[in-house]
Amino acid sequence: MSTFEENASIGFIILDSNWHFIYANDYGASILNRSPEELLGKMAWAEFPAAIRHASYSYFHQARKSGKEISFNEYVKPSNQWIHVSAFPVGENLHIVIRKTEMLANHFAMENDLYQKYTNYIQDLITLTSEDGILLYVSPSVKNLLGFELEDMYGASVLAFCHPEDMDGLKSIFINEKECATNDQGIVTCRFLHKKGWYVWLENNFKWLLDEQGKRTQNLGIWRDISERKIVEDRFIQAQRLGQFGSFERDLDEDSIVWSVEMFRIHGLEPALRIDLCKAIEPIVVDDREKVALAIKQAILVGMSDIEYKIIRQDGDIRHLRSQIERVVLDGGRMAVRGLVHDITIHKRIEQELTQSKAKLEIAQEIAGLGHYEWDTINNMVYVSDELNALFGCKDAVQTLPIEVLHESIHPEDNLRMKMAIKKALHEGTMDLIFRVVVRDEVRILHTLAKTTYDEWGRALCLFGTVQDITVQKQTEELLRKTEKLHVAGQLAAGIAHEIRNPLTALKGFVKLMCHANEESKLRYYNIMQEEFNRIELILGELLILAKPQAVAYMPHDPITILEEVIQLLNTEAIMNNVEIMLIANTILSSVNCERNQIKQVFVNVIKNAIEAMPSGGILTITAHNQANGVNLQFVDQGQGISEDRLPRIGEPFYTTKEKGTGLGMMVSFTIIEEHHGVIRYQSKLGVGTTVSIQLPASVQ
Ligand code: ADP
Ligand code: MG
Repeated sequence: MSTFEENASIGFIILDSNWHFIYANDYGASILNRSPEELLGKMAWAEFPAAIRHASYSYFHQARKSGKEISFNEYVKPSNQWIHVSAFPVGENLHIVIRKTEMLANHFAMENDLYQKYTNYIQDLITLTSEDGILLYVSPSVKNLLGFELEDMYGASVLAFCHPEDMDGLKSIFINEKECATNDQGIVTCRFLHKKGWYVWLENNFKWLLDEQGKRTQNLGIWRDISERKIVEDRFIQAQRLGQFGSFERDLDEDSIVWSVEMFRIHGLEPALRIDLCKAIEPIVVDDREKVALAIKQAILVGMSDIEYKIIRQDGDIRHLRSQIERVVLDGGRMAVRGLVHDITIHKRIEQELTQSKAKLEIAQEIAGLGHYEWDTINNMVYVSDELNALFGCKDAVQTLPIEVLHESIHPEDNLRMKMAIKKALHEGTMDLIFRVVVRDEVRILHTLAKTTYDEWGRALCLFGTVQDITVQKQTEELLRKTEKLHVAGQLAAGIAHEIRNPLTALKGFVKLMCHANEESKLRYYNIMQEEFNRIELILGELLILAKPQAVAYMPHDPITILEEVIQLLNTEAIMNNVEIMLIANTILSSVNCERNQIKQVFVNVIKNAIEAMPSGGILTITAHNQANGVNLQFVDQGQGISEDRLPRIGEPFYTTKEKGTGLGMMVSFTIIEEHHGVIRYQSKLGVGTTVSIQLPASVQ
């Protein structure tokens, strides 16, 4: 035992059956960072609880159990060293011998071995250079990575292998920063020459090795092939450029921000790697700075935020930016915010122009008394302009409402027609409808024109239309029509009187004759008289129809029958003016859905004009034929014709060239044809004649 005592580098400790220290020499105690006196009587595992997790705990138990000596190496935390421990059970007690070990040396040897393996087998390139960048060591992986032999590289400068454009980054390690000892390690990316002539993107994690005075001696570099990452990065940059997307990343611990190239471009600045925080804030317009700060705070707090703000560039250009910011956790647990920034200036401009033109449109509509609506067919909500709101008698503030609300105001008799028209509009793209609304017990007549927009799959998205209140216009038209009717009737009266007087004279004569006639003659007279009465009845009937205000009732009619009736009515007047009316209709015409008396009035007006245009007589040829979707009637006269500059004026109220004309005939006729969804057209040549063609849609059976 004394031998242990004497040898100061051997520790000796005895523990009793309950793990209490019953002996410890100086060295043994010092290894545990205690004096022998401090240890005596203490329970080992109570005194050194951390040791329970160490090898000694299980080895000591094992030795006790087996009764055999056991040896092991262990690192002792209290004295911070590796020791070799042997433990022998002696009776109840456990004797422990501790020696200093060569463990640490072993550890270095192992590390060296591992390092060798690492440098030989891993793909990364490891270099050791002098402070000037001369290569002192290059790992064998250089062959795989760059195709060079080790001998090609030893003694050369790392700069010799670097792409000229990336030289600055690399030079900054060896030349520029040589004196500044603050950055002893860092990352630099550059392209390195491959023996076959191309370049490989490498990322260099470097560390300066320092001597005792803190002076840089050698540079240890680990180079990783990042070509693939570079390609992805390049694509990302390209995508940002194409999409006008910039991005930024701000490490909250740092005063500068990483900006993407496109981010600099958006700001009109020269690209760099980073930008100072204050420089980055500077372009943001003062009013928006707080908003941006809040958005960043929000991103830190809840993970994400969205923001729109404006910047003023140095060239004075104002840009609208939209940014989505998110919180990220970097390697090492540091917090950062990252954002995608989109230049939306153009969108904003378009949006503004759109709002402006919308506003202009609204003013124009207000002036014109025109309302408009936009029916979003997908959400079934209708946007109504203020004008329309007023027309429909809705409450002022309401701007969007379900279409059903509008339907409520529509006149019950027009509801079905409206629904059909909407269905047709969604299907065919347009709507042109006159309908009535009942607002506070007052009926108003509205005219709507609308267009449907479709998406790329042909699905109806929206029906946009204008609405005009035509109540007053309609009332005036109706009034004019009545006036014109009376006028025509008055004019006709002369002809009619003549027409009636003739048969009456004849009748008078026959009545006289009958007094003296025999039975046979009487029968003949009766027949002639009957015919004359019929004629009077017919003419009076026509006159009554024209004079009577009629309820509008659209029904299918044969246009030829109506024409024949009108010709019958006007024939006397024609003959008196030496005009021959010829009706040419070779086929059976489609029937036309019309208000009979109105169409009749149109024919009367047109034929009368033709007769009046031929004061010295001529032929009025009326041809009728079927055409796509309807019938076409042409009234060709041989009158004086109409000069080209006057042609557009026909149909204007009170436009007449006649001494006793009203200038209402054609106006009324145009309106009637329009209401029948027909077309009326004038063609004329001075001195040759005029052709009036009327097209009417066929009634759908
Ligand atoms: P009015 O017959 O009372 O003048 P209208 O409206 O019927 O009124 O016609 C307007 C004008 O159009 C006529 O005054 C005439 O100058 C011209 N016009 C209409 N039809 C013809 C025609 N067939 N030939 C020549 N001029 C015509
Ligand atoms: Mg006329």
